[in-house]
Amino acid sequence: ILTGKSAVVTGSTSGIGLAIAHALAAEGARVMINGFGEEETIATALAELTRASGAEALHDPADMARPDEIAAMIQRAHHAWGGPDILVNNAGIQFVSPIADFPAEKWDAILAINLSSAFHAMRAAVPHMRARGWGRIVSTASAHSLVASPNKSAYVAAKHGLVGLTKTVALETAAEAITVNCVSPGYVWTPLVEQQIPATMAARGLTREQVIDDVLLAAQPTKQFVTSEQVAALVLFLCGDAASAVTGANLSVDGGWTAA
Ligand code: NAD
Repeated sequence: ILTGKSAVVTGSTSGIGLAIAHALAAEGARVMINGFGEEETIATALAELTRASGAEALHDPADMARPDEIAAMIQRAHHAWGGPDILVNNAGIQFVSPIADFPAEKWDAILAINLSSAFHAMRAAVPHMRARGWGRIVSTASAHSLVASPNKSAYVAAKHGLVGLTKTVALETAAEAITVNCVSPGYVWTPLVEQQIPATMAARGLTREQVIDDVLLAAQPTKQFVTSEQVAALVLFLCGDAASAVTGANLSVDGGWTAA
């Protein structure tokens, strides 16, 4: 369903972004992945994406904290393939600390990578979508775009902000066959979640098992982690023609977390 379309997925060398890249490639899209990682891991991912889509896949190393690099990445995709027709703002980092100890530079980094990067990418990509008369923008927000948890001030603020940005750009592009939406996962077992376990253990004086069962999965009524593939399936739906009337939305895939 996406043959001939080009996609840029930020933060897609790992976790949810990589699953999204695979889902788009499996439908025939040309995919530009982005993010950090070992050269060999990235080369393997590109080979798999090319095999899945039957079309070229590229990696761009743009740092999502750098507006100039973000703009250059979008222009590179444009020059290589036209578009981008699909932009997935997925790059994100986490830092867990009580507000009084929260390092200011971590606040700045999270706001830059989890929120401002989506602004810079949309700003660069929307004119190309407008010129082609079709576009899909999906941002990976979070259950933390709807509710808060202690010790995650920057992340929760950035994800709430991402929803506001999404609604605004959705209204600006509504008449142009461009849709702009968020998906909001609950806890997905990825390196991002695994890496915050030690800090949560320290902040709350808990064991690893207690953090998994009593902090992470406590919020999720299904008592199961969401999978990256389940998030990717929702992104794929939003990229299809069946979702052309869905814009400005924030769709939860959180095992019932935000129903509670
Ligand atoms: P992950 O750590 O597995 O992947 C993050 C990706 O972003 C990697 O490819 C990494 O290289 C890239 N990245 C990090 N900093 C970057 C930068 N400065 N520039 C470019 N790329 C950068 O994490 P994940 O869990 O797959 O998270 C992906 C998105 O999903 C994030 O926005 C995260 O907030 C969101 N999310 C995750 C969960 C979860 O439980 N894992 C839940 C809700 C939302």
